[in-house]
Order: sequence, then structure tokens, then C-alpha cells
Amino acid sequence: MSKYVDSVLKNLKAKNANEPEFIQAAEEVLLTLDPVLKANPQYEQNAILERIVEPERVVIFRVPWVDDTGKVRVNRGYRIQQNSAIGPYKGGLRFDPSVNLSVLKFLAFEQVFKNSLTTLPMGGGKGGSDFNPKQSPHTPGKRCSDAEVMRFCQSFMTELFRHIGPDTDVPAGDMNVGGREIGYLFGQYKRLANEFTGVLTGKALSFGGSLIRPEATGYGDVYFAENMLAKRGETFEGKRCVISGSGNVASFAAEKLMQLGAKVLTLSDRSGAILCESGITEKMLKDIMYLKNVTRGELADFAKKTKAVKFFKGVNSWQLTDKIDAAFPCARQNELNGKDAAYLLKHGCTLVGEGANMPSTPDAIDAFVKAKIMYSPGKASNAGGVATSGLEMSQNSERLSWSREEVDAKLKGIMKSIHDNAWESAAKYGKKGNYVVGANIAGFTKVADAMVAQGVC
Ligand code: NDP
Repeated sequence: MSKYVDSVLKNLKAKNANEPEFIQAAEEVLLTLDPVLKANPQYEQNAILERIVEPERVVIFRVPWVDDTGKVRVNRGYRIQQNSAIGPYKGGLRFDPSVNLSVLKFLAFEQVFKNSLTTLPMGGGKGGSDFNPKQSPHTPGKRCSDAEVMRFCQSFMTELFRHIGPDTDVPAGDMNVGGREIGYLFGQYKRLANEFTGVLTGKALSFGGSLIRPEATGYGDVYFAENMLAKRGETFEGKRCVISGSGNVASFAAEKLMQLGAKVLTLSDRSGAILCESGITEKMLKDIMYLKNVTRGELADFAKKTKAVKFFKGVNSWQLTDKIDAAFPCARQNELNGKDAAYLLKHGCTLVGEGANMPSTPDAIDAFVKAKIMYSPGKASNAGGVATSGLEMSQNSERLSWSREEVDAKLKGIMKSIHDNAWESAAKYGKKGNYVVGANIAGFTKVADAMVAQGVC
């Protein structure tokens, strides 16, 4: 590690000692940048690292709302505006009890590099709240009602609206923020700002959404993996794949893998994981999507009704079966650890395509890189979602809607260019085949050059 990186990291750890996820994400990027910093002394001269790890702005606010029993509840809302060097801040909103400053700063930091990789003009941001739509505050074991979610979203946007705008900051969905929540948030923004603009992405088609946006992160993850396989002359036909999660990213990754002839063996959620040795069928996947998006239930309930799957309570998808070709972590951060990585490698896994943000722990990443398998970090392989959000912004500005085929073709093209950019950047700095180094360097360089050009700001 160079002296420059070492001193920036020391300072960052001292200043943000209570933010382990943020430190992990920053370390993961900075430790790969030495070659590009050495070749470009202007980055150190312009204090690019010191500036890139510091958010441009952090907004923290109170979100008061009234539950169905008439009681006032209070949550904490956040928006991290990390970096606007190459475009308006862009990044999702997460509603989950695990949300805190550290988690959102790690996500905003990752988003800067991811958005840069998409080739579209988008800066990085992230936001959300510790609100839990999956647990009603007054009835244990029940979810919040639609009316409670709506009142929460309206209160959240009542503060957020003054910090965002179509040319300033364009939020989207993330964990627990899907079409329903984006609709309520958009409605409240429209009332407060008195304008109909593309201020949020992930909208429904009837008010400016883009075709393929719901599918984009999962499909994009698989398109990226297809590009990695193509480098080795392979395809997905007959490959045995394990996936974690059963939400937006996981379900569409599963759908695309099935379309490409792979066998999807597992999915998971907070209740546990399901395994289907013969491969989850299209009908099962449709039922799971209905369960997750409409009745909002658990895989444990699904397993009770479906004999073809085995259910494993409270575990993830990694260590359930003996022969695995590829793994797709699509649920949450740090969900795949060193032991899981060792198990996957021992049982034949040669490809890991991250759909979630930072799902592999540092020791798991080391194991994948050392084994020289095809391993793509989330900031590269899950960029299809935000890329398609960028396409939604373009359609909104032009007041046009592109067809499903058009958007899918653009998504495929973007995933190929992210893959090729990461591949070529790794090769240029002597790390051929290392997508971690390649993605970090490619994402960083574009933002760093823009920051140098814009002076000290
Ligand atoms: P969803 O909320 O739709 O799905 C999340 C999935 O992860 C659910 O199956 C959920 O289980 C599971 N999960 C969450 N927390 C835990 C936990 N503590 N233990 C076990 N399972 C858990 O989110 P998304 O699919 O949108 O996002 C998944 C990941 O992908 C996140 O890391 C997100 O940041 C990242 N991402 C998402 C993008 C998007 O476009 N949506 C874009 C880029 C990255 P349950 O159903 O029980 O809640």
C-alpha cells in the first residue's frame, strides 16, 4: 500500500470509527488504486482520495407519521449526497431497520463508482430510513398496512423533496422500496414541488416508468456473467446456479438464468432458504414473485405448500447442495463469508456474480480472487439497475417511451461495456482477469478526472 493510501485510510478510520460498513467499502476500493495513483500524480496533488471519501452533503431528518391505531411514530430519514462530479446524485432509497449512517455511506460510496462505470452522466448518492414496512409497530408478526406505508412515504418526502430534483438528485428504490413506495413518494413530491418531472426512477409505466427497469438489476447481473463466461468460451446451458434472496434482484436474476438454460437450485429470505435439486421451475418462480410482491409472505410459507422444494430454516443458500457451477448473492451486504466461499470453491463453483451491494466479506473476496474464478463485484455487475434508471431519466426528459426490446438491447450493451471496461482496465495495470481491480480503477478514473478538471470544490 502506498503512503498516500495509508494516510487517507488512517484518517478515514479515525474520523468514522463507528462506521464499519463504510470503512470496509472504502478500504476495498482504495487498496486497489495504487497503480493508477502512481501513474497519475495529479490525483494526490489534488487530494482526490481525501475528497472522494467525504460526502458532499449528508441530510438526516425526522420522519413523524401516524399508524392505523392513531399513535404517532417517529423514524429517522437520510440522504447521502456523495459525489456530483459527473452528474446529479443518483442512488436508491432503502427502508429497513438495519439502515444507519454507516450502511448508507457505504452504499453511497459504492454508487459513485458504479454510476461512473455505466457510462451515463450520474453522480452517486443513497438514502433511506430505519422504517420497517415488514413489521407493524402495533401488531407483532403483522406487516404495516398500505395506508401506513403511504403515510410514512408522504412524511419522508415532505422533508426529502427540498433536497432533490431532476437535475440535482434523483433517488430510486432499493431494499423494501419497490413500485408501491416509489408511487407514494412520487405523488407527494409532485404535490409539494408542483411539477411533474422524472425526479424518481423505478416509477410505474403509467407515469413515466421505463420498461425493463424492474428486471434490470437481475438481468444485468446475468448479462455481465454471460460476458465473463464468453471469455472462457462457455455459456449458461445446464449450469447449476445458487442464488440468495428472493426479492427484486434475485427473482429477475433467476428468471434470466432459466431463460438461458441454467438450473436455479436455491433462493432465500429472512426465514431461510429453499433448495430444488431438479431446478426451480418457471411456475414456482412466478408463485414466489407473487408471494413476495403481492401477499408479501415468506419462503417458509411457500415451502409448506410445495413438495418439490426442501426448506432450510434461518440459513443462506450457499451450503445446501454438492455440485455448484455458479453463485449469485442477491440479498444484502456481507451475506457470503470466507467459509461459504471455501465451500463454493470446493464444490466446483467457478463463477460468482454479485447482484447485491458488497455481499461478499473481504476474506471471501480474497478466496475468489486467489482461486482465479470469474468473480464480479456488485458495483460492476449490479449496475444494470441504475443504468436503466439513467435510461428512464432520458425517456422522461425527452417525454418518450422506448420499447421493451430497445431498453433490453441498451441494457445488454451497457453491461458488455462495463465488463469490457473492467477487463481492459485490469489488464492495463497488470491484473488481467481481476474484475475487482478493473472495476475500481475504471470507475475511479472517470470521477477523479472530472474532479481535477472542476478545481477544488
Ligand atoms: P428486496 O427488498 O427486493 O429483496 C431483498 C432480499 O434480501 C429479500 O429476499 C430479503 O428477504 C432478503 N434479505 C434482506 N435482509 C436479509 C437478512 N438480514 N437476512 C436474510 N435475508 C435478507 O431488495 P432488492 O432485491 O432490491 O436488493 C437486494 C440487494 O441488491 C441489495 O443489496 C441492494 O442494495 C442491491 N441492489 C438493488 C438494486 C435494485 O435495482 N433493486 C440495484 C443495485 C443493487 P425478505 O423477503 O424476507 O425481506
